[in-house]
Amino acid sequence: QSQELSQAHIDYHVALQALQEHGTRMVCTGKMHTDRICRFDYLCYCSEAEEFVFFHSNSSVMLPNLGSRRFQPALLDLSSVEDHNTQYFNFLELPVAALKFMPKPVFVPDVTLILNRFNPDNLMHVFHDDLIPAFYTMKQYSDLDDEARLVFMEGWAEGPHFDLYRLLSSKQPLLKEQLRNFGKLMCFTKSYVGLSKMTTWYQYGFVQPQGPKANMLVSGNEIRQFARALMEKMNITRGEEVEKDGGNAEDDKEKRAEYIVVFSRSATRLIVNEAALIMALAQEFQMRVVTVSLEEQSFPGIVQVISGASMLVSMHGAQLITSLFLPRGAAVVELFPFAVNPEQYTPYKTLATLPGMDLHYVSWRNTKEENTITHPDRPWEQGGIAHLEKEERERILASKDVPRHLCCRNPEWLYRIYQDTLVDIPSFVEVLKEGMKTKPSVKKSKSASTVHPGRVREAQCQTLVQTPNEAKLTVSWQIPWNLKYLKVREVKYEVWIQEQGENTYMPYILPQQNYTFSENIKPFTTYLVWVRCIFNKNLLGPFADVLMCRT
Ligand code: UDP
Repeated sequence: QSQELSQAHIDYHVALQALQEHGTRMVCTGKMHTDRICRFDYLCYCSEAEEFVFFHSNSSVMLPNLGSRRFQPALLDLSSVEDHNTQYFNFLELPVAALKFMPKPVFVPDVTLILNRFNPDNLMHVFHDDLIPAFYTMKQYSDLDDEARLVFMEGWAEGPHFDLYRLLSSKQPLLKEQLRNFGKLMCFTKSYVGLSKMTTWYQYGFVQPQGPKANMLVSGNEIRQFARALMEKMNITRGEEVEKDGGNAEDDKEKRAEYIVVFSRSATRLIVNEAALIMALAQEFQMRVVTVSLEEQSFPGIVQVISGASMLVSMHGAQLITSLFLPRGAAVVELFPFAVNPEQYTPYKTLATLPGMDLHYVSWRNTKEENTITHPDRPWEQGGIAHLEKEERERILASKDVPRHLCCRNPEWLYRIYQDTLVDIPSFVEVLKEGMKTKPSVKKSKSASTVHPGRVREAQCQTLVQTPNEAKLTVSWQIPWNLKYLKVREVKYEVWIQEQGENTYMPYILPQQNYTFSENIKPFTTYLVWVRCIFNKNLLGPFADVLMCRT
């Protein structure tokens, strides 16, 4: 395919003149390198030096202007993985005058998004670190549209999932290695550098053991919107074999045969008795069971099947990221090899349990050592331990639980996670039955609206002193403005009363819009009163301005 960057679309001399006159201009968001995305006019790249170049002129702009703090440690993260020292972005600086002595620049007319893919060989990383962040970075900046050009600077080859990256825009993404084909100096007319981290939910354990990110900012809604967009690009219609006989959508849904998908791995971390597992699932749920694997089906084919499934069963592993294509209400069943604690490795559990993702999550763990098949003689990256000292080897062999550890080369972890497993069917069925008992109905989760109450309005208080020891405090308010447009199952109000100067308060939950408090209310005392509205027990509104009420 052609990698021509049509130079016809831009007047070369106009572009060159603009670069010479204005130099590079950069304006960024974010206070820290970890939350920064920068937009550039005329950011250049020198393929010989493998460096980006910022050309200074009298009218160039560099915001933030960090001086040498730009190197402490970097201007920004090029990947969505936070503060990873192999993923930093910076540029070299030159005066525009230096252009006279440099090769003639080639201009890239497309609006470009420049980023690092973190681990394009691994499907989970492809989605979590690259595709979803790039998708939402492109939503954030409207000129990063379907015509945008993506440039991957991590330096890897296309990798096995490049077709997925191609879905992000209509233009072929460029790899770092290909940039030299365009000449020694290329200048991006308009570019964005960096990725939004807003959608990531997992940290891989570089500084503390892996786990969900400390403050997650994404909900199932955004993940599902992404999934839907990607499925559209892959020409997949949700679900399988919908019968069309003139019935309405609900009928179709009922008639659609329910089925379970077992996602199998063919190379490592095998389920050695997969056939028995499939039989047990079919028997237990009276459903058809189909298997998929990355080795045997095309990715769109797999998504087609998963998007209509009632349950996805798989060994822990990157293929479980495809659970983001499951329909609401489906179950994710994740299997763990011997000595691996499901609570410590939760990228897929975290995904399934994001608010609004509406998936049911169950994990099963092999607790029988006789049912595990170890591979001590494999290379270390597939969990081999032959290279270790005898003492260390024996310690690992004797251990029944991998202790918490950092990423990424802990030999005990690799040894255990690459075991094959003979799944004990009775214990698996038991865990599944137990876990599915609490299965939330989709109806229930669907009606759980995500609209929050506004502030209560016209909050006021009246006080009355009755005796030297008794007083009353009446607080009243009006409903939040948005309530009159909503159907809400349950509306309640929360009132906090704090005596001025005290550091505790009394909380009350009330169904009505006024209340007279007399217990614990003293005469000639000032109370601070906060009121807020609550929808359906857990959707909290903001507090109205505090009321000062003097008895
Ligand atoms: N993979 C696969 N079949 C296998 C083993 C791995 O399709 O038998 C895929 C896996 O889904 C992932 C990549 O190969 O996309 C790397 O697998 P690895 O075991 O290294 O990573 P993990 O699955 O533990 O994240």
